[in-house]
Amino acid sequence: MAETDILVVGAGAAGIAAARAVRAAGRACQVLEARGRIGGRAWTERATLAAPFDLGATWLHQAGDNPLAPLAEAAGARPFDHDAVRSHACFVAGRPATPAEMAAYDAAYAAFHPALRAARGRLGPAASAGEAAPRGGPWDATVAHWEGPVICAAPLVAMDLGDFLDTQLDPPNLLLPEGVGTLLEGLAAGLPIACGAVVERIAWGGRRVVAEGGFGRIAARAAIVTVPTAVLAAGALRFDPALPPAVEQAAHDLPLGLLSKIGLRASGADRLGLAPFAGLERQVAREDEAAMTFIAWPFGQDHLMGFLGGEAAWALSAEGPAALAAHARAELRRAYGARADRALLPADEEGAWLASDWGRDPFARGAYSHARPGRASARGVLGAPLAGGRLCFAGEACHPRLAATLAGAWESGAAAARAALGHLLTETA
Ligand SMILES: Cc1cc2nc3c(=O)[nH]c(=O)nc-3n(C[C@H](O)[C@H](O)[C@H](O)COP(=O)(O)OP(=O)(O)OC[C@H]3O[C@@H](n4cnc5c(N)ncnc54)[C@H](O)[C@@H]3O)c2cc1C
Repeated sequence: MAETDILVVGAGAAGIAAARAVRAAGRACQVLEARGRIGGRAWTERATLAAPFDLGATWLHQAGDNPLAPLAEAAGARPFDHDAVRSHACFVAGRPATPAEMAAYDAAYAAFHPALRAARGRLGPAASAGEAAPRGGPWDATVAHWEGPVICAAPLVAMDLGDFLDTQLDPPNLLLPEGVGTLLEGLAAGLPIACGAVVERIAWGGRRVVAEGGFGRIAARAAIVTVPTAVLAAGALRFDPALPPAVEQAAHDLPLGLLSKIGLRASGADRLGLAPFAGLERQVAREDEAAMTFIAWPFGQDHLMGFLGGEAAWALSAEGPAALAAHARAELRRAYGARADRALLPADEEGAWLASDWGRDPFARGAYSHARPGRASARGVLGAPLAGGRLCFAGEACHPRLAATLAGAWESGAAAARAALGHLLTETA
C-alpha cells in the first residue's frame, strides 16, 4: 500500500491550499481528485466561446482580505476591479426603469442590510434572513431576489440570519481576464495530484488513515477532506469509524444552494446598448421568480454572462443545460424582444452557448453553502480537527467569515494543513 505523510481529498481551492502548505512545510502529500481536472468549483472553460469562461467561481471577492488576490497579482493574472466599471440596466415589465424607479430601488437596497442587522437582536438565534427582510415595498422582492437566490444561491428563508450577516462580502470584487479556474490551475502546478481518483471510503480509526477507491489504497499519517458538504451529506464518502454525529449533522446543516451560469455568444456587432461589464436585471414581484441577471461582454469579449440562482435554478437543472439556455434567451427577450434573438448566435449553432451543470455534478451537488436557520455553528463544528488533527475537514463551508468563497476555501485548506502538520509533530514526539 502506498504511503504519504498527509493525504488531501479534493483538488479544489481548499485542497490546493492545503497541499501547498504541506509541501512548504517539507512534508510529503498526495492529493486524490475524483474528476479528470483540478480546480473543483473553480473551472475556466476556454474552447466553446473562444474566450475564457468561468463556469464556477467568477470574482475574487473582498480583495483586501483575499489570500488569492496577491497570489493572482504575483502570477501575472492582471486582476481587474469590476466595481470600478459597474453599471446597471434594470427593466420593469419589459421597459427600462425610470430614474425615479431606480432611485426607489437604490433606497430599498440601502435599507435592506440595516433592517437585517436591527432584526438580529430582536429575533431569536434561529431566525432566518427571510424573516428579517423588509417586505411589501415595490422593490423589496427584487432586493430579496438579489440577496437570496442570486448572491447566496438560496432563498433568504433557508438561511440563518446571523450567518448571512457574518458572511457578507465587501468590495473590491476582482475579475481575472484568464479566469479564476486558470489561476487555480497555475497555483496547483507541481503538486502531486492524482486525477480520476474517487475516494469511496476513509478508515481513520488506527494510527494511519487509509483512503480507498478504484485507485487502490493509500495510507497517510493524517488526512484533509475537502469535498463539498452536499457530497458528505449524500453519504458518497464512507467513514470508518462513522463520523461523530455532530460532524455528520454539520454537513447536513450547511447545504449547497444552486447558482447556474451561462455564456451566450453574440452573432454580430449589436451589443444591446450594454457597455462591457454592465449588469442587466429586472424587477420581480416574488423573490423566487426565475429572473436571471446578466453581465455584458466582460473584457469586451463577445458573450453575455448569465446567472440563475436558488429554487428556480434547481428546477431547471433537472432538465439539463439546454433548458437553461432556452430560459436565458427567453429572459433576454423580455427586455429586448426579437432583437435579443438577432443579437445572439442561434442556440443550435456550435459555440453559441456554454452552461454550468453543478446541480447534477456528483462531485459538487450544488454551488456553495449556506447555514440553515439556527445552525451557524455548524461551520466551526465541521472545521474542527478530529483525533488531534489525524482527520480534518476543509473547504468553503468551514469558514465562518468567508464561507461560500474561494478565499474561504483557501484559508480553510491552509488551516487544516496546520492542524494536520501539528498532528504529525505530536505523533513523532
Ligand atoms: C456558479 C458558481 C459561482 C461562484 N462564484 C464565486 C465567486 O464569484 N467568487 C468566489 O469566491 N466563489 C464563488 N463560488 C464558490 C467557489 O467556487 C467555492 O467556494 C470554492 O471553489 C470551493 O472550493 P472547495 O475547495 O471548498 O471545494 P471544491 O472546489 O468543490 O473542491 C472539492 C474537490 O473535491 C473533489 N471531490 C468530490 N468528491 C470526491 C471524492 N469522493 N473523491 C475525491 N475527490 C472528490 C471535487 O471534484 C472537487 O475538486 C462560486 C461557485 C459556483 C458553483
